[in-house]
Amino acid sequence: MNLVLLGPPGAGKGTQAKLLVKALSIPQISTGDILRAAVKEQTPMGAKAKAFMDDGLLVPDAVVVGIVEERLAKPDCVAGFILDGFPRTVSQADSLRCMLEGQARSIEHVISISVDNDELLGRITGRRTCKGCGKGYHICFDAPRVPGKCDECGAELFQRDDDREETMRKRLEVYDLQTAPLIDYYRNASLLRDVRGVGSIESIQHQILSIVQGDVG
Ligand code: AMP
Repeated sequence: MNLVLLGPPGAGKGTQAKLLVKALSIPQISTGDILRAAVKEQTPMGAKAKAFMDDGLLVPDAVVVGIVEERLAKPDCVAGFILDGFPRTVSQADSLRCMLEGQARSIEHVISISVDNDELLGRITGRRTCKGCGKGYHICFDAPRVPGKCDECGAELFQRDDDREETMRKRLEVYDLQTAPLIDYYRNASLLRDVRGVGSIESIQHQILSIVQGDVG
């Protein structure tokens, strides 16, 4: 099963992708995670990507297309994959289509997770991550027992630079301008299914699974 999760930052793509990994036994491919790891390891690609990410801008298409091409060639993607945060431009979507066509593969479902901008701002600016184990929190909706400390490993929590309010507003603008056109792109290809990204994580997961497992028309 080859899936794309589409949606603005904070819509819950990453959360849903992780649950789909368990339900479908196929890997999550998050270009954001791969880029953040490259920044942390200070690779040449990470150094190039960092300035774009810190400003809330998209990393150039050629860089992310290269990342995805390399990742999709790994053996764990043979039975399928969940793309989370890619494609983000029409040009990336075209590259993905060509790349898959060359391997006699194609995207089967594109799930568009929609959430209003005000809700997204609240979700993202309250997001915190553990420096030690990477566990995610929210200062209002999923607060740690001791403020600023991870429940699991006790390490300090931090806010991603690109989750600050000003950068987040920029990321939402970039989404509307560069990524939202993919909704029509995939609708025209008859691949798009809409899911409202509000309500419990479980109910959203249930809706997505119903779509991909063919329970609803
Ligand atoms: P994410 O964690 O998916 O929100 O991604 C964090 C940041 O990584 C984005 O704001 C972009 O700067 C960069 N990024 C992730 N995926 C892509 C992509 N497909 N195209 C361009 N930039 C990306």
